[in-house]
Amino acid sequence: MAGKLTDLPQLVKPYRLAGSKNFRLSDFDPADHQNLDLKNEAGDLLKQGIERLSDLQQKLYAHDRWALLLIFQAMDAGGKDSVIRHVMSGVNPQGCQVYSFKQPSAEDLSHDYLWRASKGLPQRGHIGIFNRSYYEEVLVVRVHPDLLAAQRVPQPLITKKLWKERFKDIRNFEQYLSRNGIVIRKFFLNVSRDEQKRRFLQRLDEPEKNWKFSESDVHDRERWSDYMQAYQDAIRHTATLEAPWYVVPGDNKWFTRLVVASVVIDTLESLKLHFPVVDKQRQKELTSAKRFLLREK
Ligand code: ATP
Ligand code: MG
Repeated sequence: MAGKLTDLPQLVKPYRLAGSKNFRLSDFDPADHQNLDLKNEAGDLLKQGIERLSDLQQKLYAHDRWALLLIFQAMDAGGKDSVIRHVMSGVNPQGCQVYSFKQPSAEDLSHDYLWRASKGLPQRGHIGIFNRSYYEEVLVVRVHPDLLAAQRVPQPLITKKLWKERFKDIRNFEQYLSRNGIVIRKFFLNVSRDEQKRRFLQRLDEPEKNWKFSESDVHDRERWSDYMQAYQDAIRHTATLEAPWYVVPGDNKWFTRLVVASVVIDTLESLKLHFPVVDKQRQKELTSAKRFLLREK
């Protein structure tokens, strides 16, 4: 399947979650690629997809009403950077910004956890990309309790319900954003533990990739099942109609790109974007401006 751009909505369907409480991460195969082949149809589709995306982004920008927020979460070496680079390769940088969530600064830690996320939200007409996001607050912070301590949340508020409360706050925040015209799509790049190992080894073996390697990534790898548990729980509680999650197969980078690009295209198409309409009065003004220019010596 999926030989044409119009087939892409079908391609992404199996990975979309918009409210299932029974979601199980183990049902999703990181190596899935729907029997597509990069050398044949997928390579072509990727190219066409980037062109389509570029058109749609121009319209989003000119229309200047909606904003698109794309959230990327993954284990280390899950391919966030490369998928972001690819999807954005045809997009005008003026209408797009990437915001990377690193460890919070002292200033971040002095605020509520959505504070820094709010500062990075895209304005109307723009595509905003969160490379990691406030979801780290229910992932890495859940797996490493010392990070929660560093947030200085008052003790009486730290109860057994804390994670459920955070999920609810996140759902409410996302609902608020979507009611303001910020369309949200969330991607979990689902890479397998074996593929992560392969990519880490590559980072160690290839000098030009050494800079990407960090010892702490290997330590996190030891907590793999805790992370998967945290991801599963987070997705169960925060996959909604207005802000769906996509559990994207992560072991084949080209397939990851194809799925993400398809979701972005499908989402922008659904907004029925158009260039601002030129009314009769404006048409007259444009004609007279043209005459003026042509008269110039
Ligand atoms: P790369 O692919 O280049 O490794 P990265 O997104 O992993 O990109 P790093 O600088 O390596 O970037 O790591 C950022 C680290 O910050 C991650 O380990 C992430 O879990 C952590 N982090 C992000 N947000 C928070 C948070 N709110 N609290 C604690 N740690 C956080
Ligand atoms: Mg890292």
